[in-house]
Amino acid sequence: MNTFWFRYRLFVLLAFVPLYAMAEPPFGGTAFVDPNIVVATDPSVFGQVIGKGQGMRTVFDRRTNAFGAINAYLFEATGSDGSLIEAQINPEFGSVDAARVEAQRYTRLIGQMPWASRRNVRTFAVHQGDQDFGGNRNGSLLIHAGRTATYVDFGALEEILIHEAGHASLDERHENAPAWLAAQAADGEFISTYARDNPTREDVAESYLMYLAVRDTSGRVSESLKTQVLSVIPHRIAYFDVERVLDWAERTYPQIFGPAGQSTLSLTGYRYRSYANGHFMAIQEASPARLLYLGPLSNNTALDLGLLSNWVAKAAP
Ligand SMILES: [Zn+2]
Repeated sequence: MNTFWFRYRLFVLLAFVPLYAMAEPPFGGTAFVDPNIVVATDPSVFGQVIGKGQGMRTVFDRRTNAFGAINAYLFEATGSDGSLIEAQINPEFGSVDAARVEAQRYTRLIGQMPWASRRNVRTFAVHQGDQDFGGNRNGSLLIHAGRTATYVDFGALEEILIHEAGHASLDERHENAPAWLAAQAADGEFISTYARDNPTREDVAESYLMYLAVRDTSGRVSESLKTQVLSVIPHRIAYFDVERVLDWAERTYPQIFGPAGQSTLSLTGYRYRSYANGHFMAIQEASPARLLYLGPLSNNTALDLGLLSNWVAKAAP
């Protein structure tokens, strides 16, 4: 056989193998897979909302599919961790008392989310209407109160909000990160058809909810679901483990690992963040992965802090 032709055919064969090999995703959409990832009785960092009167806010509304200005009823809450949220309630609810009920309900729900999901959520708007919820990377969530009862029937209200908060808090940070793209490629599959069909827009939000299922410590998520997710997207789960521990280190030791919000960088076999004054935190991507510190606290030699999995368990959600 002509060598060129053979190579060409081999190339074509190999180039298409991943398409044929990609298995059908196990789920349609991950928000409805397990209603117990967060449940109504879970604690919230937010307590009572405080009324701030009315004010003009420009918010998205799916009934018109457009941004528009409303003279919103405004409420604020400060979380036990210092985070701030503003509720913007459409005046169509008719009274400040009716608006307060909406503000209180969704503020509490947002405060139940893990920190990574709500880290960039600053505001949310509530309208009437039976439309999809939404999340925007500008830091806002969109709620159509006419849809809420349907999500509650599925037990999925908390999970839907976590999915939408993923668009506000996770997409921009991860969707184009080289290590995320590498994890997607290494997994070679998607956790849901929704993620597969919208790989740039939905994969982070879809996968993160299943990450929370895998790392659930309440005992409510079945071992079979955890095993199934780990068999389909193990590299994405490992990616979120690294992010969780490094985020936790920044929040727990801000004097050392600051300023917070550093990007995670890659070096062959390692992922790391670099901080002021020469502090580094690194993950050695061995199997099993290990956490390392390098910097002035260790005389600038690599200090092995043990298995990453121990730190994942320690890092608060
Ligand atoms: Zn989405």
